[in-house]
Amino acid sequence: MKILITGGAGFIGSHLADQLLEMGEEVFAIDNLSTGCLKNIEHLRENPGFHLIVDTILHEAVMDDLISKCDHIYHMAAAVGVKLIMNRPVQTLETNIKGTESVLRLSNRYKKKVLIASTSEVYGKVMDGKGCSLLSEDTDRLMGSTTKRRWAYACSKALDEFLALAYFEEKKLPVIIARLFNTVGPRQTGQYGMVVPNFVQKALIGKPIIVYGDGTQSRSFAHVSDVVKALISLMSEPMAVGQVINVGNTEEVTINDLALLVKEMTSSESEIEYISYKKAYGPGFEDMKRRCPDISKIRDLIGFDPKVDLRGIIHSVIEHYEG
Ligand code: UDP
Repeated sequence: MKILITGGAGFIGSHLADQLLEMGEEVFAIDNLSTGCLKNIEHLRENPGFHLIVDTILHEAVMDDLISKCDHIYHMAAAVGVKLIMNRPVQTLETNIKGTESVLRLSNRYKKKVLIASTSEVYGKVMDGKGCSLLSEDTDRLMGSTTKRRWAYACSKALDEFLALAYFEEKKLPVIIARLFNTVGPRQTGQYGMVVPNFVQKALIGKPIIVYGDGTQSRSFAHVSDVVKALISLMSEPMAVGQVINVGNTEEVTINDLALLVKEMTSSESEIEYISYKKAYGPGFEDMKRRCPDISKIRDLIGFDPKVDLRGIIHSVIEHYEG
């Protein structure tokens, strides 16, 4: 089959390309290299089944041609990383809203099956309340004020989900919406804020590991290899069409414990330092206290069972940065 990956030179997109090529598929990757990078796909350049198109997904003629000739579309291109989202709010909204709108409209033109990568950000801060144990796909969402810039990203991705569901319901377009929780692994850069590569890089050079806030906030991290396998399985599962599906791991860790674990696993002398969210991200930032998925839906659909635990995840990132 011919597969189109938008954001194919990005962290998750490039791992997806690896896996699909290994399965014998032909892969077209479009990426404007804004946050994706050539290094992620360097090893694929000689592969005859791999085609890189350096362009923006907002370039309609190029996207029309790619979507018309591909069988499946994985729409991974999006603004990425809390730091980038805070620094580039216009670019974030335009990429997420216009990009997905165009992918869906063109996929509908040729009636091509499309998987939209969404995000656990769409749940907002609902888990901060006592009434919420795990985040399941139909859990109510809780966004902060529009003056708090962080929520623009969440709202833009929620709008993408609404649009994808509308295309499914109204136009019978086969869409799958995968809500990705914190995904980690080799090739992820710390440049846009992600906590694990940041902690590992600092620990390896003995510089302070910087925890934002008091470190009691928690996250659940999934390894990119588990996530990519899940996306590919979802694409071929008929029951996934028209569904919103969490993709993540349920192992939860506080950022304090994560810092300690990274320090231990790198045998680092780094100090753990604390700075305020305001200092880290500037004004207009609000964090969520917890974020942990209910993965019973994806388990029922495709037998999803993440293989890499937190230690394995951190280990893979250490290996990556140690070269
Ligand atoms: N964080 C941190 N130090 C860092 C980067 C992130 O303490 O160098 C915190 C961040 O404030 C958040 C958590 O780690 O509470 C996860 O951050 P990340 O940006 O990786 O993902 P997200 O906030 O989207 O879950």
